[in-house]
Amino acid sequence: MFNAILINKTDVGYQASLQAIDDAQLPEGDVTVRVAYSTINYKDGLAITGQSPVVRKFPMVPGIDFAGAVETSHHPAWRAGDPVVLNGWGVGETHWGGLAQKARVKGDWLTALPAVFSPKQAMMIGTAGYTAMLCVLALEKHGVRPADGEILVTGAGGGVGSVAIAVLAKLGYTVVASSGRADAEAEYLKALGAVEIIDRAALAAPGKPLARERWAGAVDAVGSHTLANVCASAKYRGAVAACGLAQGMDFSSSVAPFILRGITLYGIDSVMAPPTVRQEAWARLAHDLSPAKLELIGAREIALAEAIQAGQDILAGQIRGRVVVDVNR
Ligand code: NDP
Repeated sequence: MFNAILINKTDVGYQASLQAIDDAQLPEGDVTVRVAYSTINYKDGLAITGQSPVVRKFPMVPGIDFAGAVETSHHPAWRAGDPVVLNGWGVGETHWGGLAQKARVKGDWLTALPAVFSPKQAMMIGTAGYTAMLCVLALEKHGVRPADGEILVTGAGGGVGSVAIAVLAKLGYTVVASSGRADAEAEYLKALGAVEIIDRAALAAPGKPLARERWAGAVDAVGSHTLANVCASAKYRGAVAACGLAQGMDFSSSVAPFILRGITLYGIDSVMAPPTVRQEAWARLAHDLSPAKLELIGAREIALAEAIQAGQDILAGQIRGRVVVDVNR
């Protein structure tokens, strides 16, 4: 038996509760993982509360991220005891996820956890940090170099933004952070490595198709008018990596930045990214996210049963910073 958060949808309604589950009920998969830590993402909040139909099969164990050690494996890449991390792949949506003491998944979905990270640290990073690294990799592959100029990070105080700032600064880029908490969080964002903080209000309203060229590159976690304004102020042949929708899913821009300045907009998806891309991202996090910066980003630790409340809190905007879940507590 193992403990898990289980979501059920019946005639009585939508319900998430802590349950003891028989191992025999684990879904199909060639690797069983003894989960150590999971985390609470916005998507987990949607799954736990049923506020948006992210869960496609019932009953479902939520949790799009987990880290732990392989218990049994019928997959050639994994042996019992291997430390692993999983992000996305529809886990916690269509396949039982990480808010449980055990998970059974396809071995192809697992990534080796770099030795420098404990399972708890892997979940402090979570999908947010891994997505930030995918954004940085996109800028690097485009050829953006530190000497090219300033890099803008929007949604700077969030999980994606914080890791993006820390990594970009370590790599020698000049990072400007856009935040709605420009005053309150200035010290934190500067400690992460930002040289300047701008108020997100400056980017939030509809703007002109082209603005003064400023950014050699950008990581955008916000979408909507912010993303349009970031594209409008990207430098000639600059690159923008778009991964989020904190302001909105809409994106009303013009072709001007693309056809007059040759800018490139990279779409970043973490959920279905291929294994080689994930391996590269986690290896680079191990190399380029310093433990001190990870400590600074920090995370509040909760027990498995508390994940249900945390799922509600994250949707209500009542969670600041990252949360990790000790599934064995
Ligand atoms: P967080 O909630 O931790 O951070 C989002 C940040 O965006 C906030 O901290 C805030 O930063 C800023 N923000 C919030 N509301 C608004 C608003 N109305 N207008 C402008 N800025 C706002 O989320 P994550 O960092 O984990 O994720 C960021 C985005 O990326 C989310 O939209 C998420 O869904 C998406 N995402 C996408 C993935 C992918 O695969 N493409 C994977 C992971 C996340 P501040 O206070 O500093 O302004």
